Amino acid sequence: MTESKLQTDIKFLAGVGPKKAALLKSDAEVQTFEDLLYYYPYKYIDRTEFHKISDVNADMPYVQLRGKITSFQTAGDKKNPRLVAHFTDNTGMIELVWFKGIKWIQDTIKKNVEYIVFGKPTEFRGDYNISHPDIEEAAKVDSKLASPLEPAYNTTEKMKTGYLNSKTIFKLICILLPNVKDYIQETLPNYIIQQCALLPLKDALWNIHLPQNLDSLRKAEYRLKFEEFFYVQLKILGQKKYRTSKLKGFVFSKVADNFNNFYNNNLPFDLTDAQKRVIKEMRKAMATGKQMNRLLQGDVGSGKTLVALMSMLIAMDNGFQSAIMAPTEILANQHFETITKFLKNININVRMLTGSTKTKERRDIHEQLLSGEINILIGTHALIEDIVQFKNLGLVVVDEQHKFGVAQRAKLWSKNENPPHVIVMTATPIPRTLAMTLYGDLDISVIDELPAGRKPIQTKHFFEASRLQVFGFMRKQIEAGRQIYVVYPLINESEKMDLKNLNEGYEQIIHHFPAPKYAVSIVHGQMKAEDKEIAMQYFVKGITHIMIATTVIEVGVNVPNASVMIIESAQRFGLSQLHQLRGRVGRGAEQSYCVLMTPYEISKEARKRMKIMEETNDGFKIAEMDLKLRGPGDIDGTQQSGLPINFKIASLANDGDILQLAREIAYSLLEQDENLEKQEHQVLKKQLQKIKNSTVEWGNIG
Ligand code: ADP
Ligand code: MG
Repeated sequence: MTESKLQTDIKFLAGVGPKKAALLKSDAEVQTFEDLLYYYPYKYIDRTEFHKISDVNADMPYVQLRGKITSFQTAGDKKNPRLVAHFTDNTGMIELVWFKGIKWIQDTIKKNVEYIVFGKPTEFRGDYNISHPDIEEAAKVDSKLASPLEPAYNTTEKMKTGYLNSKTIFKLICILLPNVKDYIQETLPNYIIQQCALLPLKDALWNIHLPQNLDSLRKAEYRLKFEEFFYVQLKILGQKKYRTSKLKGFVFSKVADNFNNFYNNNLPFDLTDAQKRVIKEMRKAMATGKQMNRLLQGDVGSGKTLVALMSMLIAMDNGFQSAIMAPTEILANQHFETITKFLKNININVRMLTGSTKTKERRDIHEQLLSGEINILIGTHALIEDIVQFKNLGLVVVDEQHKFGVAQRAKLWSKNENPPHVIVMTATPIPRTLAMTLYGDLDISVIDELPAGRKPIQTKHFFEASRLQVFGFMRKQIEAGRQIYVVYPLINESEKMDLKNLNEGYEQIIHHFPAPKYAVSIVHGQMKAEDKEIAMQYFVKGITHIMIATTVIEVGVNVPNASVMIIESAQRFGLSQLHQLRGRVGRGAEQSYCVLMTPYEISKEARKRMKIMEETNDGFKIAEMDLKLRGPGDIDGTQQSGLPINFKIASLANDGDILQLAREIAYSLLEQDENLEKQEHQVLKKQLQKIKNSTVEWGNIG
């Protein structure tokens, strides 16, 4: 059997032996020949490139130098001796340092012979040195240069002390490859390989370890990335197809009076092109007879609520009720106000149901939902309680989806004999690549345009030292009639300390903004819900000038008169969160500002985040940057998903094009052969089964 060769225990590979086998298994999860084959290098070192000593600096991850040792010196004391060599080329001098194996170095390394030295430069008191460099005689290296791109493999400390460093792994791979090459079986149908001009798997695996040049490396990477994305998409899209073919959806076949009357006579402004496009997408999808499950993305202020409302009017035109579910009472309230205002001249019954709805009214609402008198219900979690039953629920809009669990959404399914159409609205833009994977079985609509005439928020980063200047600016804004948010981070591990910061900030602010001239509200997570609500309402009504808060306000109150957002310890927030917070201002007619306060000493990454915030207001750009800076595992909401977002070689941050292609190919393949019955698709079935057996099941979402 060809399969079994690859399944051979790694201990049987020449050069491995029981000790190394144990290390490979425990530290690298390499059990078999096949596992080692798929143990990809994490980088390649270009051994054709040499650096000049005069160019060396401590930021370089490694350098390769060519030169001679002019002198040796021992230093340190008896207990901690070190050997220092002065290494020169014709541009300068650098120190090579050894703390171990000193005798061996002194015996074998000669002065005034040309060597090639490789290692990580570090700075010590203004001089550069390389400790424990790779060092080899230049003449020997020149004669054997096999591949100019030398792969580097991940190893742990334990592996290194067990003589299993990157070089050793490379040697094992060199033994393995010729041994197994003929046993590697193709995992993609031939026609896809042809169509996408992919390398055959055999060649890709060979070249990922032993690339002849950069071009062959890129081709190998492309093929392996494609395959990773392709199988995930095949699985997600397969599940989606299965779900949509099993579940019936309500057919909203017509657009009639409610929609048209609103659109023609009651819309206070023109829709943006993006809004028009998205409404069309909804309309089309809700008419197909398949249940719609759609993610509606749009930056804060892009007008998602209106799109949701117009979709609900379509539902009404077809005899169905709709519901909007918001994560907080304040938000539900705001939706209610917005929507009743939009509909003030139309006879549509809109009601609100939250935790604080009085019993009598609640009962009334329950009855009117059952009789069908209520057309649109707006509320919080309260509206998914079992007791809430509808006559004919056809569409549910879930706002700010990441605060809702999957289980809560699933409850909606039981509200009618068929599941209602679902629109999930989120103001946290998710990069397209991530959405295609995370929400791969949801359809996606994007409002990528803000209504005309919005003034972009001006963002500026200030250091602590400029605080008085910031206070001065705040005073001016308050004098001009504006309101201000001051937000402190609240990160769970150090809640006590955060609260202390918040309280100190509060003290400082009431000192600089004393009553009765100024009024200040404070809201944080450890306050009682009622007290929070009262403080919020004071600010919403304009009674207080400044709202000091932890990130509880993130979820989105709408106070158009608030025009300044001060974010304290901004270095502790991620980009997406900073952007979310900033979105609390810029909702009115006035120019709005966002101030990012940080200490002087912050990390390079934090500095970059501040700069990105200063440079752009575009939530999608920010989400992309966030993905690039932090990696997919740290993006909000991804940890719980259990989806394979950390690919072995593919990257959601950088390989969007390959993902797009893989998704399209998987899609059209399923269109013609949903159950993978064709002969040429048997290989896919087999591979899917294999993946399923070897990975944790990542379950259903949506
Ligand atoms: P989102 O929920 O996407 O953050 P909203 O739906 O709350 O945004 O809309 C923000 C504001 O913009 C609301 O006051 C809304 O009435 C207004 N708005 C929506 N669409 C338009 C438009 N096409 N032109 C002008 N204003 C709009
Ligand atoms: Mg909104």
